[in-house]
Amino acid sequence: MMEEVEFKKVHDPYLQSKMTNSDTPLHCVWVPGPIIVGAGPSGLAAAACLKNHNVPALILEQANCIASLWQFKTYDRLRLHLPKQFCQLPLMPFPVNFPTYPTKEQFLAYLESYAENFDLKPIFNATVVSAEFDSRCGFWRVKTKVTEYVCRWLIVATGENAVEVVPRLEGMNEFNGPIVHTSSYKSGEGFEHKSVLVVGCGNSGMEVCLDLCNYNAFPSLVVRDSLHVLPQEMFWVSTFGLSMWLLKWLPVQIVDQLLLFVSRFMLGDTSHIGLNRPKLGPLELKGISGKTPVLDVGTLAKIKTGDIKVYPEIKRLACNVVEFVDGRKEKFDAIILATGYRSNVPTWLKDLNLFSEKDGFPMKKFPEGWKGKHGLYAVGFTKRGLLGTSIDASKVAKEIAGQWNNSHRKCEILQGRKTSIDS
Ligand SMILES: Cc1cc2nc3c(=O)[nH]c(=O)nc-3n(C[C@H](O)[C@H](O)[C@H](O)COP(=O)(O)OP(=O)(O)OC[C@H]3O[C@@H](n4cnc5c(N)ncnc54)[C@H](O)[C@@H]3O)c2cc1C
Repeated sequence: MMEEVEFKKVHDPYLQSKMTNSDTPLHCVWVPGPIIVGAGPSGLAAAACLKNHNVPALILEQANCIASLWQFKTYDRLRLHLPKQFCQLPLMPFPVNFPTYPTKEQFLAYLESYAENFDLKPIFNATVVSAEFDSRCGFWRVKTKVTEYVCRWLIVATGENAVEVVPRLEGMNEFNGPIVHTSSYKSGEGFEHKSVLVVGCGNSGMEVCLDLCNYNAFPSLVVRDSLHVLPQEMFWVSTFGLSMWLLKWLPVQIVDQLLLFVSRFMLGDTSHIGLNRPKLGPLELKGISGKTPVLDVGTLAKIKTGDIKVYPEIKRLACNVVEFVDGRKEKFDAIILATGYRSNVPTWLKDLNLFSEKDGFPMKKFPEGWKGKHGLYAVGFTKRGLLGTSIDASKVAKEIAGQWNNSHRKCEILQGRKTSIDS
């Protein structure tokens, strides 16, 4: 990798003086192209698009492999929630023999061959602990524990799901059974005949409940807020694909009405089973708040038959009992937190001209949030999954390639002048 991106030491007196400081990293290396932080789908997509423009990039990844979220933090039965054509990365479609909704293993195999195809070789076990724009030299200083990298462009691809969100529940320490986040949940094995409370009703929470049912556990679901549940497919096509197509012709409110009408016909009135719908329609709500509608893969039927019970917000925990805000108290053997993730950007990026310090997402909403100042870019923070990743990666690569080619042309002109003077 080092040879590949033609690293060379920076000959800068300011940098040299910093390097002698005992609290600064040991090595200082100059990276001619952009640095990408994170080797998940977004980092890989950005690097591939750059490579396509002949721009070399260096990827720094904290884990020891690519796509660590998918490798380590996902459950066994996971498949892509959206059809493969909406999840493929730029420049390389999924294999034709893959099913419409590839399994986790298939998606990982696709990412491995994507990295291989574009000869992407991230530096692993390289956690970026800080990144700061140095206005004195006009470059980014990106630090891991052992190295300080200096570069002109910094691409943040650490993802929307970098850190588990674990809510603080009253009495949590008193609860006798295990309390685990979905990031550690693999399958219902070990939960057979146990009463399990799943907290959170996004796609993961809903699917974990279904998985627990299949392992003969007795799951219950905590539903705190209103939510939209839509069938994964309508009229034999994916609901997502249908929505995208309808949005080309109709305003979002009309598409929402159509989706809700068909959903009611297919799923019935979800409020009867404790799942109230928000006032805004699913697509309008997604656009405004980023809240994704749940695509039902069979959980609703299990709720209707009573195999999965629904409870409101938790009030407190004690020993093996959970008390809910409606006064009900129930015994549970285990709790699974399907409470999502958050960005880790504010913990390491010292320059927040693009990202909000509050939530670690770009301050400008999609499609504006990909570009900051001083060569700072974001890929994969659109709240639009892998489709958003592809859009960001293509834009970022095109923009950086323009600047890269310009500076190379200038260098060539200068070199040409020097040669003619020498001769
Ligand atoms: C259970 C689950 C199912 C999903 N299903 C779908 C789906 O079907 N379709 C869809 O479009 N999206 C889905 N998503 C959304 C998912 O976030 C994206 O698919 C995808 O993983 C985003 O890629 P990313 O590269 O932006 O982030 P990530 O996959 O999270 O990758 C970020 C990488 O950055 C690394 N990193 C983080 N911090 C640092 C640091 N400081 N230094 C160095 N490296 C760092 C991490 O180790 C990680 O490898 C799902 C998410 C989950 C959790």
